[in-house]
Amino acid sequence: MKAAVAGELAAAYHSALVDEVRAGNYRHEKGRLTLHLAREFGFCYGVDRAVDYAYQAVARFPGRNVFLTGEIIHNPHVNDRLRGGGIRFLSDPAERGRQLGPDDVVILPAFGITVQEMADFSARGCTLVDTTCGSVLNVWKNVVRYAQDGFTAIIHGKVKHEETRATASQALKYPHGRYIVVLDREEAAIVCEYIRHGGDREAFLARFAGAVSPGFNPDADLARVGCANQTTMLMSESLEIGEMVGAAMRDRHGDAMATHFRAFDTICSATQERQDAVEALLDAEPVDLMIVVGGYNSSNTVNLARICAARVRTYHIADPACLLSAGQIRHRPVGAPSTVKADEVVTEGWLPVSGRVVIGLTAGASTPNNIVGQVIETIERYASA
Ligand code: SF4
Repeated sequence: MKAAVAGELAAAYHSALVDEVRAGNYRHEKGRLTLHLAREFGFCYGVDRAVDYAYQAVARFPGRNVFLTGEIIHNPHVNDRLRGGGIRFLSDPAERGRQLGPDDVVILPAFGITVQEMADFSARGCTLVDTTCGSVLNVWKNVVRYAQDGFTAIIHGKVKHEETRATASQALKYPHGRYIVVLDREEAAIVCEYIRHGGDREAFLARFAGAVSPGFNPDADLARVGCANQTTMLMSESLEIGEMVGAAMRDRHGDAMATHFRAFDTICSATQERQDAVEALLDAEPVDLMIVVGGYNSSNTVNLARICAARVRTYHIADPACLLSAGQIRHRPVGAPSTVKADEVVTEGWLPVSGRVVIGLTAGASTPNNIVGQVIETIERYASA
């Protein structure tokens, strides 16, 4: 079945121009433009597999309703193509509340679904096509082990992100399982302060409303903790949060700390490689600006833009249509979390009007090559206008 859909996938997502840039040592010259492409960018192994499975599901179950629980990955073009291919989205207004049954096929996305959702689909007898990425399953394994051993999972992630909701639900597989989700260093610092000195329990719970397991009691539930993270967070921030929590546990428990604290790096290798590649590009090439391509609700793309923006002028765009003209670019402001809606802004003068221009380019793990190729073509066109 994989071979049967291979042609369709290639036609939908391949780019000859991207292949050419790769073959040219990730460097592309045209007139006054030099473009450097990060050495790791775009579709990751988990997304590749998820999209492949979705196409296979349509081919494997002709005549049956095939549903996705929501976005398969955070890229509107990929999701729209799947809709065009006949897959229905349970998150779409027309499908909400639909009662599924044994005749229905349900594709689970790369970032997984919650334990409760899984139990519901199974109870209804649906045929499940599970595309949950192995790297997400690895995080779940650690969180389940924490719960089994009576450790509260401190999850560095975005509480509204599907993956983090799914990961948090894993902690509740055991009666003593607990979790708390922290978004960033600031929230981690609040947790660390409570670990060290205790504090106002009600104020703490109000601060983390919606981000803790039911009945969470910080006085008891922060005594033994283990760190985990959403796979697509900023690696440097996740590591720092792990160290912050470790230091707080050492202060509280001294020599007994080893029996109270655990940590595993659960950033996925694809996210790490893309973050490393963009740092390497910026170390090696004096670019005038960076373009980061990917869905605005894509966590790993948002984090790539944060890395770039700390070093050079950066624009996070969703697709080539955001390159409005040689003078104007429409983009998402860098910095807002991917689960927060941040309105696009239009910036004038993004492309130097004369002289040589050096542009760095990368794309998030849910961005297909055809979109990257179209972005390169559009930049070329404006640079030579
Ligand atoms: S970003 Fe990482 S965890 Fe997510 S699908 Fe890709 S490889 Fe898997």
